[in-house]
Amino acid sequence: MLSYDVTEYGKPLQARLREKPVPQGRQVLVRITHAGVCHSDVHLWKGYFDLGGGKKAYLKDRGLAPPLTLGHEPLGVVAAVGADAQSVTVGDKRLVYPWIGCGACWACDAGLSTLCATQKNIGITIPGAFATHLLVPDAKYLVDVSGLDDSFAATLACAGVTSYAAIAKARPYLREEDWICVIGCGGLGLLSISILKGLGYQKIIACDIDDQKLDAALALGAARTVRSDQADAQAQLDKASGGRLAAAIDYVGMTPTFSLPYPVLRKGGVYVLCGLHGGDVNLSLPPIAQRSISVVGSFVGTLDDLIAIVELAKAGKVAPLPISLRSPEDLSDILSDLEQSRGVGRTVLDFSRVADSV
Ligand SMILES: [Zn+2]
Ligand SMILES: [Zn+2]
Repeated sequence: MLSYDVTEYGKPLQARLREKPVPQGRQVLVRITHAGVCHSDVHLWKGYFDLGGGKKAYLKDRGLAPPLTLGHEPLGVVAAVGADAQSVTVGDKRLVYPWIGCGACWACDAGLSTLCATQKNIGITIPGAFATHLLVPDAKYLVDVSGLDDSFAATLACAGVTSYAAIAKARPYLREEDWICVIGCGGLGLLSISILKGLGYQKIIACDIDDQKLDAALALGAARTVRSDQADAQAQLDKASGGRLAAAIDYVGMTPTFSLPYPVLRKGGVYVLCGLHGGDVNLSLPPIAQRSISVVGSFVGTLDDLIAIVELAKAGKVAPLPISLRSPEDLSDILSDLEQSRGVGRTVLDFSRVADSV
């Protein structure tokens, strides 16, 4: 098999030939046809997350050392199954749920693998989808996406499930006449707007610093837009929502993207943080109580969330975001473009044309 690996943090990825794994027990080997590229892959490629204030969290301190096969939006065809693998047969096309827990803790027991303390996430802790083949620990992580476009289906494994889970955290705060803003209209932000629309929400404000991305947000269903780099962006956001901004979902996660919506959330509102760009904030405590504000973190989504977003998409309620299908050979350039926030929508790698070996 062939994989495109990080062999040195931040350096161009290398094509490497590896032995094709043989699935054992409940494992399933998937021949990857499509693999979405996520902004998180940039951080994983660089080898650290920015914590703000000059602090960084290094992957090497968490025991993650190159070579690493990234990629956590895997779609492919079942190529081989272990003796105890159930519910799939060779030839089935499946989306792979990548956010896998230990299977033996309270969180995993409750179906909340995203809260597991020892996750075994595909494309982070175990080899991922930037490869011709992927070994999946259990057939239960394979989701049938029949009827969906392959490239779009791949993006549901991270962009889709992450957006869906973040929206689920914001929904209880939204009343009639309330507005929600989506900050950062990259792949996740655009998909969020599409999902909100599919769930019946109209009062959506898109915030970004790029007019092209705001145009894409309008096309997918945002009612209003705010250029978040303008000096009066906060006043614009307050005005656009008529003082009824009940929820903000931040897909950027920098100090300015927190500071933009937080002061203008209505009382009882919620700020949901998904983005991992990095930064820190200094908050006065009394207003959090006085305004009854919630600050909520949201990291990817559960298997049930993925099944729910796939069903919503199958019902035709999620308009696909703009997707460009590219060759895996371009992966280093794609990651550089993502790092600079260039391009609109999601990039998906086409592994269907890549030979298993060179
Ligand atoms: Zn991701
Ligand atoms: Zn666990």
